[in-house]
Amino acid sequence: MKIYINGKFYEKEDAKISVFDHGLLYGDGVFEGIRSYNNIVFRLKEHIDRLYNSAKALMLEIPISKTELESAIIKTLKENNLSDAYIRVVITRGVGDLGLDPKKCSCPTVIIIADKIVLYPQELYQNGMEIVTASTRRNIPEAINPCIKSLNYLNNIFAKIEARRAGCEEAIMLNSEGYVTECTGDNIFVIKDNNLLTPPTYIGALPGITRDTVIDIAKSKLGLNVKEELFTTYHLYSSDECFLTGTAAEVISVVKVDGRTIGDGIPGKYTKLIMTEFKEMTKVLGVKY
Ligand code: PMP
Repeated sequence: MKIYINGKFYEKEDAKISVFDHGLLYGDGVFEGIRSYNNIVFRLKEHIDRLYNSAKALMLEIPISKTELESAIIKTLKENNLSDAYIRVVITRGVGDLGLDPKKCSCPTVIIIADKIVLYPQELYQNGMEIVTASTRRNIPEAINPCIKSLNYLNNIFAKIEARRAGCEEAIMLNSEGYVTECTGDNIFVIKDNNLLTPPTYIGALPGITRDTVIDIAKSKLGLNVKEELFTTYHLYSSDECFLTGTAAEVISVVKVDGRTIGDGIPGKYTKLIMTEFKEMTKVLGVKY
């Protein structure tokens, strides 16, 4: 495996950064998780835009241009001979001293790792998954805005620990007012009658790129009435269908939430259609290499 760090490729054992990098010391940095399918990097431009927006919010200046980063990602995929991959781009604040001050960091570190990923067991894609609501609330946007994909994922990790303790793979996170926001690494959707609901990102959710793709599919191909609005766990329990979206997870059905069976307890008809249409999108939307 060849890993890109600041313009050079290193073998996995030699791909190392300084212990003084503020990405390590303070979680000061941003990242992206991107997928490629059959030599097409799925919605690469959207991922790059989100990365630069996250960096801007942190006042972190990425030392290369968007076009240079795009080329570096493609080069990493080619170096590793990967046609289907999960790509992790990490930008840290860079090497500084032991204080917090980002001004003392010389130059941000750019890291690109390309690998394979299987997030959830295949069986869950066929039968749907069970999830729970975590007691840990999503970060309030006034503190660390969940729209920023930062290296500071402790909030999500707390909830992930709760999910695993409950024997589940994922957990729902509510915001401080008790509204459903998203899961630890996935966005959430519910379907009731002809309506597809997902929380608006301003209440504390990442503007997911899979989420965005699914909204387009639901509007243009399925004629569903898409609403970005607030809802509670009550609306989730009484929904007809529920599913999660994410780059690694793609689209996965949820059939049980906090012990309540959703709909008929099997992946719903709209969810299955969305899963199929999403697969089709991965064949056409993106940058070829
Ligand atoms: N929410 C969180 C907290 C995430 O980490 C992710 C994964 N990047 C998502 C949602 C899904 O976003 P995307 O579809 O862009 O991968």
